Amino acid sequence: MNKRDFLKYSSYLIGGTLVGTQAAAAETSFISPSLRRKRKAGGRLALTFTPYTLQLRHAFTLSTSSRTTTPVMLTEVEFDGVIGYGEASMPPYLGESHESVATFLSRVNLSQFSDPFLLVDILEYVENVMPGNPAAKASIDIALHDLIGKLVGEPFYKLFGLNPEKAPLTSFTIGLDTPEVIRQKVLEAEPYKVLKVKLGRDNDREMIEVIRSITDKPLCADVNQGWKDRNHALEMAWWLKEKGVLFLEQPLPKEMKDDNAWLTEKSPIPIIGDEAIKNISDLLDNKGVYSGINIKLMKCGGMNAAMKLVNVARAFGMKVMIGCMTETSCAISAAAQLSPLVDWCDLDGNLLISNDPFSGLSVVDGIVALPYRPGLGITKI
Ligand code: MG
Repeated sequence: MNKRDFLKYSSYLIGGTLVGTQAAAAETSFISPSLRRKRKAGGRLALTFTPYTLQLRHAFTLSTSSRTTTPVMLTEVEFDGVIGYGEASMPPYLGESHESVATFLSRVNLSQFSDPFLLVDILEYVENVMPGNPAAKASIDIALHDLIGKLVGEPFYKLFGLNPEKAPLTSFTIGLDTPEVIRQKVLEAEPYKVLKVKLGRDNDREMIEVIRSITDKPLCADVNQGWKDRNHALEMAWWLKEKGVLFLEQPLPKEMKDDNAWLTEKSPIPIIGDEAIKNISDLLDNKGVYSGINIKLMKCGGMNAAMKLVNVARAFGMKVMIGCMTETSCAISAAAQLSPLVDWCDLDGNLLISNDPFSGLSVVDGIVALPYRPGLGITKI
């Protein structure tokens, strides 16, 4: 494989314009002699999947729910002895489950494809298998990106043309809890240089004051739609700015579009849409409502869709953040591959679990360090 040429190929993918004759030309020109030989030998893609349950280190409490486990589906896409790893994470509020993801993946027939580099074609087929199911779709998308990186022999961020030195600090989430536990969590979060605080109950100011009594690190605040009154939200935005909060995520319910837009216009800190914006369609529906978006692979359907969201959000002049669910190092590394493109990074999902089946990802100086290994750079334990 001519790596320089593949970078050119991948830049077509970034623009989302790899179509028709371009795709045919790219495919013909950039496929290595070894892959051509494999094709002649009749190599086919093969998808397998295994349900798994993540155990959380602390109960994960939001303004709307609390839990101690998260179901995930671990996928593998194999081509000629090389395995790409993927993952679907299914927090209950998003509506997917072990059963729904297994049903979706059972309907996917990747063996009809003999060329893993035809990513756009394969993902278009997967998209049309059934509507919805973004986490299930992400599990295939992520595995294909890992596979392609391994076949090329380069980390995927390099194939996107991204500079790992531009990856921002990642925040570490402090969930809702008693002041004593909050204090303990903040001390445990010592290696992280930005903290994310979950708000949305009646003791929000107390939570912030407890944290501020321990550390002066920059904070970001996520309300998870927990406030219902825009005047209260604006008052809190001004107060949080004084307390060193960088931005406010989904302060009001997503249905309160006019109120969210009003708040975005008046707030002294950026207002980020999370629950309101899962995919491109939501982003178009919410144009002008938020200052920025929180992109998550499990909401949008994977790395390819996330890249499109980054581009559209930037065209709208929006801030971009990349976030996660509780996930293994597999999906976190997949999101981290895009992190050099974003303003803020919130990729701590693998750090919140006690049974990560993958290794290879670490936080260095407060940044998710992109592994200099092929594909996503993670190894199954
Ligand atoms: Mg959020």
